Amino acid sequence: MNTQSKVAIITGAGSGLGQATALKLSDNGVSVVVVDISETAGQETVSMIEAKGGTALFIAADVSQAPQVEQFVEQTVATFGRIDMFFNNAGISGPGLKLADHTIEQFDQIININLRGAFYGMKYVIPEMLKTGGGSIVNTASTAGVVGVQTVGPYAASKHGIIGLTRTAAIEYGKDHIRVNAIAPGTIETPMVAEFGRQNPETMKATVDSIPSGRLGRPEEIANLVAFLLGDEAPYINGAVYSIDGAVTAQ
Ligand code: NAD
Repeated sequence: MNTQSKVAIITGAGSGLGQATALKLSDNGVSVVVVDISETAGQETVSMIEAKGGTALFIAADVSQAPQVEQFVEQTVATFGRIDMFFNNAGISGPGLKLADHTIEQFDQIININLRGAFYGMKYVIPEMLKTGGGSIVNTASTAGVVGVQTVGPYAASKHGIIGLTRTAAIEYGKDHIRVNAIAPGTIETPMVAEFGRQNPETMKATVDSIPSGRLGRPEEIANLVAFLLGDEAPYINGAVYSIDGAVTAQ
């Protein structure tokens, strides 16, 4: 293992935004811990990184299970000795339904993965960053964390919650040299969105029609922003929520 480079943990790194960011950070010389609930997806990202000569380690975990989050943090420290960067990103969208039509089970599942998962990640990563003098965290919120979005009420609640956690952690740990920011992507072409579009074609068409930039975003565009926020060129960016949505929330 390369112990000279910076070390990043990325959750949901087997696909979409997490995978694109894993590749970007690896290109920047960062050793990447690829966390995903899917072994196949996670191993694919590791193979892509290793094929380019980078260093990556896959750890299977469900971010909604606190002991599994604690375990991947421990294993990262045991392997690499430190955590410099954390992209707290794993999440699910859930079904497209009006608020009262969601079941309680659907609400719980989305909150458990998206919001509890994000909390567990910071709960276990921050103490390790404190031990080594600091670090940088980016949490994945969403346009639905900034404004209401029809048919995704529980998802919107989880992403608004992530912004609350982000701002709180930023002001609590700023003097400890830990920066915590959130990204609020619009609709980005990932497998999650493709699946949502298959199940909700009319909603997806309306979504694309409403984007001022005239197209969906690309995972690589998110990866560029996340790598910047996690890296050394953003030392005074803390507690911020970055919209990256083709001007959707500017309307
Ligand atoms: P994706 O489905 O392409 O990738 C998500 C990855 O997370 C998958 O590899 C999946 O196996 C993994 N995952 C799912 N549940 C998990 C769990 N419980 N524990 C660990 N891993 C789990 O999705 P994506 O579009 O890349 O989304 C990533 C994040 O970005 C999510 O938090 C999502 O809400 C957010 N987001 C996406 C968009 C978008 O348009 N794609 C927009 C705004 C926010």
